[in-house]
Amino acid sequence: MTDLLFDLPETPSIVVRGETARYPVRRVFCVGRNYEAHATEMGNVVDREAPFYFTKSPAHLIHSGATLPYPPGTENLHHEMELFFTIGSPVHHASKEEAVGAIHAYGAALDMTRRDLQDTAKDKRRPWDLSKDFEGSVVVGPLTPASDVGEIGPQRISLAVNGETRQDATLSLLIHSCTDIVTHLSRFYHLAPGDVILTGTPAGVGAVGPGDRLSGTIDGLAPVELTIGPAD
Ligand code: MN
Repeated sequence: MTDLLFDLPETPSIVVRGETARYPVRRVFCVGRNYEAHATEMGNVVDREAPFYFTKSPAHLIHSGATLPYPPGTENLHHEMELFFTIGSPVHHASKEEAVGAIHAYGAALDMTRRDLQDTAKDKRRPWDLSKDFEGSVVVGPLTPASDVGEIGPQRISLAVNGETRQDATLSLLIHSCTDIVTHLSRFYHLAPGDVILTGTPAGVGAVGPGDRLSGTIDGLAPVELTIGPAD
């Protein structure tokens, strides 16, 4: 064992339905603008040629059922409801077939976003880290093994805030499919078990505040739930 000056928190991990062992998380990649209606609501044009990405620290991952204290530095915290998936085997320069085989499981996630900071970053042509990668900014529900999930497409993806539906779409509206994402992203990284990929949000993103209860569902997958707490 390496002699360390101090201990870090345990490796973040995600519950897998039907298994006692959890999925440990090494990296978190997120796809931007992967639904046309969301790109339009944000004033952007979609790039159908290739997806683009940002990353979040695994240390910022929290679980369905958590309460997220209203984060510092923002007055416009937004929800983004997303399908996510995990990588189950090493893959680099993946063919379409290899990409299909590399997908281990699917789940429901929230990409929480400090929208005001993102708007500033866009205006000033600065990175998105402050707006996207903050404590508790990636919320995940339990994983469902890919073998238990049908073809991705017809499933409804929706998010309600305090029982009122805010986001409602189907996964068939994804511009870049999960396998397309693996094929593309594996040209830039040696993808491997421990890699988690959020696939982007449909239209209907909006602000949430202390006391709000978020409930996200994707047909066939475990839901993701989040309560926003007071600032701490
Ligand atoms: Mn997103």
